[in-house]
Amino acid sequence: MTHMSDLTLHIETPLVESLPLSRKVQGRVWLKMESLQPSGSFKLRGIGNACRTHAASGAKGFLCSSGGNAGLAVAYSGRRLEIPVTVVVPETTSGRAIELIEQEAARVVVRGASWQEAHEYATDALEAGWAYIHPFDDPLLWTGHATVIDEAVRQGVSPDAVVVSVGGGGLLCGVIEGLRRNALPSVPVIAVETKGAASLSESLRQHRNSALERITSIATSLGAKKVADAAYACAVEHGVHSHVVSDNQALSACLRFSRDHRVLVEPACGASLAAVYAPVESLKGRRNILVIVCGGAGVTIEQLERWRKELRNKTAGGDA
Ligand SMILES: *Cc1c(COP(=O)(O)O)cnc(C)c1O
Repeated sequence: MTHMSDLTLHIETPLVESLPLSRKVQGRVWLKMESLQPSGSFKLRGIGNACRTHAASGAKGFLCSSGGNAGLAVAYSGRRLEIPVTVVVPETTSGRAIELIEQEAARVVVRGASWQEAHEYATDALEAGWAYIHPFDDPLLWTGHATVIDEAVRQGVSPDAVVVSVGGGGLLCGVIEGLRRNALPSVPVIAVETKGAASLSESLRQHRNSALERITSIATSLGAKKVADAAYACAVEHGVHSHVVSDNQALSACLRFSRDHRVLVEPACGASLAAVYAPVESLKGRRNILVIVCGGAGVTIEQLERWRKELRNKTAGGDA
């Protein structure tokens, strides 16, 4: 078989047993190291799949709205497929993030106060023949994200629990699709969010998919005000265990993880790690826990330090 779909943009990531995390639970903890994807996060699995599919049907360009890991994954995919990319980012996007996207030779357009406005501008500005790549609400993404489970199984771990961070729910949809297609449909999934970005948790509580008024968490990659309707439906159907950690817990997990495994990840990923460093109830008795180390390119030692100081000041001010 040699056709377009053979050009896989993501890489196979290591599956590493974590002794420090395994000590926190009764079973073994396996880390799927998505932070090692060339774009810095798991996003390349799904976005690579979407870009490849659009390229095969003749897309002239890729348009995306995300100042974060999705924008970076589209920029990477476009460079590899030799297709031009424009990324619309909101005004809140850091200089560092813009630099990373431009490093992939994509054009960056700054528009709007939030992701929602950048997204609306981008969908309005879509040129004929170009494909719009949504950061989380697209079945092509979920099918691509599902390869993270295919790989873990192929690498020899049949998980009896999966821990995953949730923003707009694209990764969650992919993980559940992956479990289903590997004959593991009833493996429990622990869906972790941070306080101030917990749109799935709030929706499950209200028994309907609903939007948060605003995002207040430092875990900006989890900052979708509302998860995709399909993600909500999938979470209900699968019966995911929803869990919310504080920014402080997510950040502390990032710092501990950097010492334990010498790898930097964003607080969006720290959220999942925090649910294992202080194990949630639903991990009790599990023998093989798979943690999707979803990664994040927008992290540096300096940024982790800045957040730590900010959160410490906030706590000192009685705003814990
Ligand atoms: C995008 C992202 C998430 C959330 O993924 P969704 O598919 O939006 O739920 C979590 N962590 C990192 C590092 C991300 O880039």
